[in-house]
Amino acid sequence: MSLVFDHTVLPQRVLFGSGRAADFLEAEVDRLNAHRVMIIASERENVSAQHLSTNIDVAVRHHDRAPHVPVENAKRARAVAADNDADLLVSIGGGSTTGLAKAVALTTGIPIIAIPTTYAGSEATNVWGITEAHLKTTGVDNKVLPVSIIYDAELTLTLPPGLAIASGLNAMAHCIDSLWAPRADPINQALAVEGTRILAEALTAVAADPNALSAHEQMLYGAYLSATAFSSAGSGLHHKICHVLGGAYNLPHAHTHSAVLRHVVAFNAPAAPAAETRLAAALASGSATAGLDSLLDRVNAPHRLADYGFREEDISAAAGLILPVVPVSNPRRVRHDDLITLLSAAYSGETTPLERNSA
Ligand code: NAD
Repeated sequence: MSLVFDHTVLPQRVLFGSGRAADFLEAEVDRLNAHRVMIIASERENVSAQHLSTNIDVAVRHHDRAPHVPVENAKRARAVAADNDADLLVSIGGGSTTGLAKAVALTTGIPIIAIPTTYAGSEATNVWGITEAHLKTTGVDNKVLPVSIIYDAELTLTLPPGLAIASGLNAMAHCIDSLWAPRADPINQALAVEGTRILAEALTAVAADPNALSAHEQMLYGAYLSATAFSSAGSGLHHKICHVLGGAYNLPHAHTHSAVLRHVVAFNAPAAPAAETRLAAALASGSATAGLDSLLDRVNAPHRLADYGFREEDISAAAGLILPVVPVSNPRRVRHDDLITLLSAAYSGETTPLERNSA
């Protein structure tokens, strides 16, 4: 069979090195000839931000960020950027902080340097998201793609172990979902499979020793692979489910991914044999579901949506919200009842025999 595909590579500089972020930032600010830098970091991230920015001129520091980028926060940040004539945004933090910088870039075109402190991966995508009245709107625009990413694993050492694991599984979900996402192609699938392999090893190492810098480096590297795969392949079934759950029920992003992933894999894998074989190998197991289940148990992954505020009585309505956004590319037909079964399993944390249902 001939090989035909259409793959876009996003233009972006990636600088990677533990303990190097301050030097990288100084060099990038210089390279971009920026003179009015706006630093976006939460109060918690401010300690890192102060340390990283000692060698650059900062026009303004902005701390007012919240999960899922509420539209009011976006408007305030845009006003601060305009009032201070900012010519470069530097975001230091997790996906919510990167997301706020993207909201400013979306309307102003100001370039972003992203310095991530979790494994969420927003820094490597051209996707923005803004929440208004509990509804999260997302879109794609190259203006929001950070011009440079600075990865420094020392910044992730402060992650509480549970959050580090959940965030790493969020990254693994980008990889796994990319295998059957709408724009899956040989390049993003290769990134996804390698990302899965790297993240499986790194998650195990971080769980064994949350202070191991080399394990966090591997997590960040895997997170970058995962984000480039996801950015290119688009949202598959797993991301559609988590997007609805996060937006409609205000569930924590990384933990939601962690709890839902095994059930999507159990549902899809029997209908996607090529992806199943590659995932099994990446997880060093005889089957994708067994490999993932073993990893999740090994790292004590968050696995019950009930622990994060999702209620049993929400399941039916959530299934109704998800069904219309299921990608047509999904390898297995998804019915309302399938979503009820899948969400019930994710709610209670039970391992259900979804893979034995008829495809
Ligand atoms: P987050 O940014 O909300 O951070 C979670 C918590 O971790 C916060 O309290 C934060 O202060 C804390 N934190 C961050 N770094 C830390 C560190 N090094 N040490 C200790 N605490 C730290 O959550 P997230 O999971 O990083 O990002 C989730 C958000 O990113 C969601 O809104 C999601 O939709 C978005 N996202 C967007 C894309 C995209 O392509 N646009 C991709 C992935 C995620």
